Amino acid sequence: MMGRFLLAPPFLLLATPAAAATGEPVNPWVALAYLVSGVFFILALRGLSSPASSRTGNRFGMVGMLIAVVTTLVTHDVANIVEILVAITIGALIGVTIARRIAMTAMPELVAAFHSLVGLAAVLVGWAAYLNPGAFGLLMPDGGIEAVSKVEMGLGIAIGAITFSGSVIAFLKLSGRMSGSPILLPARHVINLGTLAAIVVLTALFALAAPQATLPLIVGLTVLAFVIGFLLIVPIGGADMPVVVSMLNSYSGWAAAAMGFTLGNTAMIITGALVGSSGAILSYIMCRAMNRSFLSVIAGGFGADANAGGGEAREQRPYKQGSAADAAFMLEQAEKVIIIPGYGMAVAQAQHALREMADILEAKGVEVKYAIHPVAGRMPGHMNVLLAEAQVPYENVFELEDINSEFAQADVAFIIGANDVVNPAAKTDKSSPIYGMPVFDVDKAKQVFFIKRSMGGVGYAGVDNDVFYMDQTMMLLADAKKMVEEIVKAMD
Ligand code: NDP
Repeated sequence: MMGRFLLAPPFLLLATPAAAATGEPVNPWVALAYLVSGVFFILALRGLSSPASSRTGNRFGMVGMLIAVVTTLVTHDVANIVEILVAITIGALIGVTIARRIAMTAMPELVAAFHSLVGLAAVLVGWAAYLNPGAFGLLMPDGGIEAVSKVEMGLGIAIGAITFSGSVIAFLKLSGRMSGSPILLPARHVINLGTLAAIVVLTALFALAAPQATLPLIVGLTVLAFVIGFLLIVPIGGADMPVVVSMLNSYSGWAAAAMGFTLGNTAMIITGALVGSSGAILSYIMCRAMNRSFLSVIAGGFGADANAGGGEAREQRPYKQGSAADAAFMLEQAEKVIIIPGYGMAVAQAQHALREMADILEAKGVEVKYAIHPVAGRMPGHMNVLLAEAQVPYENVFELEDINSEFAQADVAFIIGANDVVNPAAKTDKSSPIYGMPVFDVDKAKQVFFIKRSMGGVGYAGVDNDVFYMDQTMMLLADAKKMVEEIVKAMD
């Protein structure tokens, strides 16, 4: 799933004025090549929808992008191909270096940073078309630009600017450079609606204005769009951030599609629409997974009062602590074990040790299943990617709704680095910032093992968890990888 995000930035390479925009007839071979690239992008999305086929999906995406970029370059009057190739090489080198170095847990912030580039590129393309309409085939005999092209331009710039500033804020929040809690401005709904309305009015005025009157309007709409991107994302926090990342992904697609219309580039329209709609669908899926409405996410404020839920739990409550040897013994006695991985497993890179542990248990006749929450970790599909990397069989991996009823029959719920996704406050405590998010019913299992480093640490939403203090819970306080390795050793 995460690969889908990375489809977004490169398609702006296609941002070269196209034949259609210059009024020349569209070469059918060019149209065919763009269509073929579009088919590859659809195959890519299909492949990326499952970990088993995601590598193939990625390759389809790369082939589609290669066809689209080569077609664009060979069929256009490119002023300086050397400059473009140098730029592509530098960009590719930076991309490869980042992709090799980035930790999987830092992926969401990288995705947010990349989205900001897509947004900025859309703004720059829009401004380039405005300042030099002749080069884009948009110049009319009266020296102006056709109204419909100006609407496309205005929309592209506005969506691009919102994507840019929103993604920068998301990047700062996800990377911890800015507080992840929502920042709530007074009267923010009024300010936001007013700003959005002003952008719409300015776009309309820009489309209708005489050529000499357009500059202040396009400047105004660009500035306001940058501001609204900031205002929209600042109040969103806590567990809503996954939705924000996919929402910005969607915006970046629509920004590119709008630019595709300005440039008359079919490939950009197709790719932008694919990214835009798949991002919107993902946002919807994430909202459903968290039992939130899209509007309430946009309205923000989730997790604003991070200490509300289970606040009293901060006072020391008794809990049981166990050792690797205790856990190993009980796991070996179990008939059915459900493993719930979360962000901590990703940080510790414990997936390989976990797989080894599961293999040993299965060899001893224990049934082992993995339960994946849609928002576990820090990006959509995070746990699936890690488990696939450790070659955990796909048939042992289950989604929340498919496995939740099985906890009642499980001997052990083995929670490794997960926290928010097993927090019962989401079901019972209306004041909790995660109230309403579906969570695993680990309390129904006979025994719960909870791996985390200390009792002090909290999950992403910043709330305590009653599961720590349940009678059947044994806290295994250590780094996840170290603890699982010790359990494996103790089982030998
Ligand atoms: P959480 O963030 O709720 O909890 C992580 C747990 O891991 C903590 O208990 C932490 O405790 C523990 N931990 C951290 N490092 C280690 C380590 N090295 N070894 C062992 N344990 C460790 O994780 P979940 O996966 O349960 O929940 C995901 C949360 O992130 C949700 O609130 C979700 O909304 C949010 N989110 C999800 C995104 C997505 O797309 N999936 C994107 C952005 C946010 P301790 O510090 O004590 O070790």
